[in-house]
Amino acid sequence: MFLPTILSDFVGLLFPRVCLACQEPLARGEDHICTTCRTQLPYTDYHRLAAADNPLARRFWGKLPIRHTLSYLRFQKHGRVQHLLHQLKYRGQQDVGRILGRWYGQELTAAGLHTDFDLIVPVPLHTRKLAQRGYNQADSFAEGLATGLQLPWQAAALQRTTYTNSQTRKNRIQRWQNVEAVFEVTHPEVVQQQRILLVDDVLTTGATLEACAAALLAAGALQVSIATIATADR
Ligand SMILES: [Zn+2]
Repeated sequence: MFLPTILSDFVGLLFPRVCLACQEPLARGEDHICTTCRTQLPYTDYHRLAAADNPLARRFWGKLPIRHTLSYLRFQKHGRVQHLLHQLKYRGQQDVGRILGRWYGQELTAAGLHTDFDLIVPVPLHTRKLAQRGYNQADSFAEGLATGLQLPWQAAALQRTTYTNSQTRKNRIQRWQNVEAVFEVTHPEVVQQQRILLVDDVLTTGATLEACAAALLAAGALQVSIATIATADR
C-alpha cells in the first residue's frame, strides 16, 4: 500500500490532477471534481418540485406530453458548470458526463424516480460531427445515469437523418419541421412500450429534445422523460 501511494503522489507532482470544474488541485481521494465544487455546484433540484412548479416542464407544455423534465445543474456563464461542459464537449473529458450522471442517477433513485423509467436514450450527434469529435457528449451522461439509476441505456436507439441546413429563409413552422425531420428511431422494437429517459448535455430552447421525443412517441414509446446535465435560462 505504501509504495503505490508514494508513486501516485510522485506522478501527481509531475502531472497535477485538477478539478474539472474549478481547476484547483485535487486532494487525495477526490475524483475529477473536488469536494468544494460538489458541495457548491448550482443544483436545480427540480426533481423535488411538482410538475406545475417546474419551470423546465413549461417549455414543453402544449407541445408534447413529457413525464418528467429534469436538469441537474444551472448553467452559468464563465462559471463552474460552463467549464465542466466545455471539458466534456471539447476536451475529451467524458468522465464529466459519467460522474455527473452517476451522482444525478443516485439522487433521482433516492427520490424514488428510478421506477418511472425503463430505458435511457441519449440525443444522437450527426455522424459527421461524431467523426470530428470522436464521441457523443450525451453518451457518457447516459452511461453515468444508467449506473446511478441501475437501468439500461441504448446509444443507437435514435439517429440523425439529415444535417441541419441554413434555416434563415424558413418560417418558424418550417424550421420546426426541419428539426423534427432529422431524427428517426432505428429499431422501434427497442423503444416500443418503454418509458424512455431521453438525455442530453444542455437544455436551452428544448427544440432538439422535443424532436427526439416526438420521434420516440411516434415509434411507440409509452412515455418520454427528459434529463440534461445543465439548463440555460432563456
Ligand atoms: Zn473544484
